[in-house]
Order: sequence, then structure tokens, then C-alpha cells
Amino acid sequence: MAKHDLVVLGAGPGGYTAAIRAAQLGLDVACVEREPALGGTCLRVGCIPSKALLESSEKFHEAKDGLRRFGVIVSGVELDLPAMLEKKDDIVRTLTQGVAGLLKKNKIRRYAGHASFLAPDRVQIEGDDVVEVEAKNVLIATGSNVAALPGVPFDGDRIGTSTEALAYPTVPEHLVVIGAGYIGLELGSVWQRLGARVTVLEYLDRILPGMDSEIAREAERVFRRQGLELRLGSRVTSASVEGQTVTVHVDGAEPITCDRLLVAVGRVPNTDGLGLERIGVELDGRGRIQVGPHFATNVKGVYAVGDVIAGPMLAHKAEEEGVACVEHLVTGYGHVNYDAIPGIVYTHPEIATVGKSEDELREANIPYRKGLFPFAANGRARALGMPEGRVKVLAHEQTDRILGVHIIGPRAGDLIAEAAVAMEFGASSEDLARVCHAHPTLAEAVKEAALGVDGRSVNI
Ligand code: NAD
Repeated sequence: MAKHDLVVLGAGPGGYTAAIRAAQLGLDVACVEREPALGGTCLRVGCIPSKALLESSEKFHEAKDGLRRFGVIVSGVELDLPAMLEKKDDIVRTLTQGVAGLLKKNKIRRYAGHASFLAPDRVQIEGDDVVEVEAKNVLIATGSNVAALPGVPFDGDRIGTSTEALAYPTVPEHLVVIGAGYIGLELGSVWQRLGARVTVLEYLDRILPGMDSEIAREAERVFRRQGLELRLGSRVTSASVEGQTVTVHVDGAEPITCDRLLVAVGRVPNTDGLGLERIGVELDGRGRIQVGPHFATNVKGVYAVGDVIAGPMLAHKAEEEGVACVEHLVTGYGHVNYDAIPGIVYTHPEIATVGKSEDELREANIPYRKGLFPFAANGRARALGMPEGRVKVLAHEQTDRILGVHIIGPRAGDLIAEAAVAMEFGASSEDLARVCHAHPTLAEAVKEAALGVDGRSVNI
């Protein structure tokens, strides 16, 4: 039987990054993955293909409707959907093969098949053959799966998940999306740009729960202006398919018919079939693996990171945890700062956030000051033709330490990196405001919002 220092279950961002870091630190590492392609949900059917389609659909939308205001007239614009989907698949193929290459380069033994525990230090892998491996330590990084909605059965065609919505063979006439979270808004935007009528049904009275509510309200206004039909306070009770038509029943409202229904109401941890009960790994009330400091479960030698444990289900959060876990295992040090994990919605404009929202500060009675700066007053945003949105910087009233930064606007997802770095270094809003930002750049809006905390914004 093969023996390894560390066996990582799952080759998503959490698992493969942890495996590589552990190999760099000198461990003999193996990684088990049941899908033929490596990279997990993120690379195969999540972050990467959705960003590919977001970029491509935005290009189509711009060419078709968005360039005239720049004095560019384009005629005869057509959509070649199969080519757009192939471009996405090609990006996914390249990147998943890249992960395989990285494992090889780092001499990580790859096992193909479904892993389950026989004992805390023994894992069975069912692939073409059934093999057993022995491990001093096992790291569970098996990710998450789509949450189902009672009464709304997936049929793999008309009623589906984000996986199907990344590959609709034709542009839906009317796409109904359940859930105005990350997936609903990103994929809803994609198909709307490609010509579909899109209705988003959200149970709550707001979109993007958990995000700063002022920024979410602004996002709601922008999406409505773009033509997305947002129906808030809508509880879906059931849905059924007849031929090519889906009927969606909403509590207290007329049923809605459409040709495609996308369910995007969250994700649940992948813990089934791992044999966790056999070795006694404890779960929390929501089915997530319970971990203590440094990602150790209650079973000695068994660790867990990423979507299977508590916290935001984000690829980069899983990566940081994977690295911190194996670094602690080998060196005794390893840490994740949960106050500086950015979150980004890659719509147009993008929405990005790091740290505490204004709602959270208010709720926790933390005194703060706030600086706001609109992109309408930023020269570069004007030149880009994207004057919508704003930057909001929240800093502690007494210490001025930055507690949160929230952005809706052009390239918000890139701009937020500056805020994350500042927060990681414990910066004050004054620090950020005094950094020289090149002119004319979008980043100047961040500096101006930081100046705004002290009422000193210049260009507004
Ligand atoms: P989400 O948690 O972001 O949003 C789900 C939404 O569905 C919420 O607004 C919720 O109120 C709503 N909802 C729940 N039940 C409902 C019901 N019965 N009827 C109507 N609305 C209902 O979940 P998601 O969009 O499915 O994404 C899943 C996970 O994937 C998230 O945790 C997210 O972090 C991650 N993700 C991240 C990105 C990114 O980083 N850009 C992109 C996609 C997904």
C-alpha cells in the first residue's frame, strides 16, 4: 500500500493549492480527484467559465449597442454562440491542464477516483480500480455542490443549475433565475446581454444579501436600468416542465412561464460518501465540517478547508486556508485573516467588497466615519464611458483604521486589491489618502473616498 505524508481529497483551488504548498515544504503529497479534469468547481464549472462568458457577452453587447456613444459605428453584429461557448471551453481546458502540470511539476501523486475514509489514516479510492493509501495526515477539500430547492426538481435541461446555464445551446427567450446572489446576477447578466429576457426572483427584499446594503441598493438600480427584471420578496413554491415551457409558482403572485429556469439559491458542502461517520468527524448544524484552530477536525490527523467548512464559499478563501493549514502542519505557523477576504460580483459594473459592511458596523455599535466618492467625478471612468457607481471607505471613528471598503463601478474587482493590502497592513484611511495614485486612473476614486472619510475629497 502506498504511504504519503499528506493526502489531499479534492483538486479544487483549496486542495491543489494546499498540495503544492505542502510539496514545496518537503512533504510527500498525494491528491485525489474524482473528476477527469482538475481545478474543481471553480475551474471547470464556476468562476472561470462564468468569467469567460461574462467577458465575451460584454464584448457582444458593446459591439451591438455600446460603441455608438464613443463615435464608433459597427454594423452587422452577430452572435456566434457555439464559438463563444467553445472559447470558454478552451479557456477551461487550458487552465485545468495547467493544474495537472503543476501537480506533476511538484511531484504530487495524483489518484483518480472517489475517496472515502476507511480509518483516519487510511483512504480508499474508487476509480477504474479500487486502491487504498495510507496517510499521516488527510486534508478534506471536497468543496460544495448546488443547493436544491424543494418543489423545483432539476431535469438537467429546462430546470437547471449554473452548470447548465454555462452551456445553454441557444439564447433563452425568457430565463427565470431563482436567487439574486453571485450566480444569479452574473449568469442572469450574461444571458440578458446575449438577448434573453431575464427575470430574477429573490426571496429577500434586497439583492446580494451580506453585502453592504447601500452598495447593493445602487447595484439594484443599475441592474434594473440595464433591463434585468428583479422581483424581490418572491418566494418560489414550485416549478414544473411541460414540453419546452417551465411554469414557476411564486407565493402570492401569478405563475411565471419561461423556457429556462436557473436555480441559484446557494451551495451545500460536499461531505456525502466520504466515510466521515466511520471515523467520527463532527459536522456543525449546517452540515459543514467543524474545525478548530488551524483547520484540525476533532479526529487527529484529519483537516478540512474551503467550502466544506464555515465561511464564505470563495475560491481564494479556500486557497488561503489550504496554505495556512499545511504551513501550520509543517512549520507550526499559518494564519488566515478573515477580515481581509475580498468578495467580487463580476457583473458590469463589478461589485467588490472587503471587510465590514456599514450594516455590520452599525449592528456591532462600532463607531465609524465614512467616505464616498462617485465614479461620475473620476476622469478615467468618464473616458471609459462607465461613470456609474461609487467607492465607500469605512474607518474607525477614533483610530481611523480602515474597517471596510465597498465598491460598485468599473474594474471594482481589481480596485479592491488595494483596499485588501491596506487592511492587511492595518492602514488608516489617512494612510490610503496620502498614497500617490497615478492620474488619470480609476484607483484615484479609492484615494478620494479615503480623503472623504475626513471630509477632504478634492474632486467633488
Ligand atoms: P448566494 O448565497 O450568493 O445567493 C443565493 C440567493 O438566493 C440569496 O440572495 C438568497 O436570499 C436567495 N434565495 C434563497 N432561497 C430562495 C428562494 N426559495 N427563492 C428565492 N430566492 C432564494 O448563492 P449563489 O449565487 O447560488 O452562489 C453560491 C455560492 O457560490 C456563493 O456562496 C458564492 O459565494 C459562490 N460564488 C461566488 C462567485 C464570485 O465570487 N464571483 C460567483 C458565483 C458563486
